[in-house]
Amino acid sequence: MNRAQIDILLSKPSKIVITTHNKPDGDAMGSSLGLFHYFKAKGHDVKVISPTDYPFFLNWLPSNDEVLIFTDSVQISTDLIAMADIIFCLDFNTLSRINELGELVRNSKAIKVLIDHHLEPESFADYQLWDTEASSTAELVYRFIGEAGDHKMLNIEISTCLYTGIMTETGSFRFPRTTAKLHRVVADLIDAGANNTKIHAAVFDNFSEKRLRFLGYCLKDKLTILPEFNTAYLSLNQKDLNDYGVGTGDTEGIVNFALSINEVQLAIVIIQRGDLVKLSFRSKGVFPANQIAKKYFNGGGHLNAAGGQTTDSLEITTQKVNDILPEFKELLNNNHK
Ligand code: 5GP
Repeated sequence: MNRAQIDILLSKPSKIVITTHNKPDGDAMGSSLGLFHYFKAKGHDVKVISPTDYPFFLNWLPSNDEVLIFTDSVQISTDLIAMADIIFCLDFNTLSRINELGELVRNSKAIKVLIDHHLEPESFADYQLWDTEASSTAELVYRFIGEAGDHKMLNIEISTCLYTGIMTETGSFRFPRTTAKLHRVVADLIDAGANNTKIHAAVFDNFSEKRLRFLGYCLKDKLTILPEFNTAYLSLNQKDLNDYGVGTGDTEGIVNFALSINEVQLAIVIIQRGDLVKLSFRSKGVFPANQIAKKYFNGGGHLNAAGGQTTDSLEITTQKVNDILPEFKELLNNNHK
């Protein structure tokens, strides 16, 4: 299908489902709710379904209360997907990233639209707005709205959500995809009502005392630095999480502290999450964090930000990280030169 056909479909009130990847981040929720508010303003019947819960620092987003969490409302979500005319898949490139929802979406008769900026998308969608050069999926939703000729429809809700997505995905407007053009998009969102000061405070200045002390514990007691590989990692077990009552979102950003050490080119957080061990990779320069995630940890992502997971134990996973680093030693040592 082409864009004109999608626009014809959307020219009459439709049943729309928007979904995004598991454990959604700021871009996933910001882009989903931004698109939700746009479709609502257009008169569609629209629902956002997230595969799982998401960080508490996103729960203030406009219409957060209307988001369905699949694991809490399996039947309602299943029915909505079965009855949908169009399903929008945001900020993920393969259906395995939305857990059990993946097969429901794949088998649904609805038209599927993918809006995403990750590499190598699986070909399940009827129409793709896909651009790996884009800073974020929220930027692509802004583009989607503009391409429909609806730029004038940007309102405070849409712009607040999209601003949040772009801000979080670009590390507060500092990662390389933060171009002059993107700043113009952001300026436009502020003109349309996004309050940059309030949004930044809502996302970042909201630590509980426990979360801050957990961060202190991680940096003081859990950070391992391997100067030979310009790498730093933290390996967090279930007891670490239990002791500080760590919930969804509480570990967000810790990996960036490890990366902020001058010589460190690769930072990794390895966390026990129930039966799985999750890994978050961040890198500087041209070091391909996504290659390690893909080759060794069933994951993927971007050059400088990637993730993966394994059913191995935390100890085995941490050892594996140590074992594979020699393969990347030359790249890690030459990355900052
Ligand atoms: P995070 O470390 O914040 O969980 O993820 C960083 C980036 O890696 C995100 O862009 C995310 O899409 C990607 N990512 C995280 N986990 C996975 C995974 O398990 N599989 C794939 N393909 N990408 C992931």
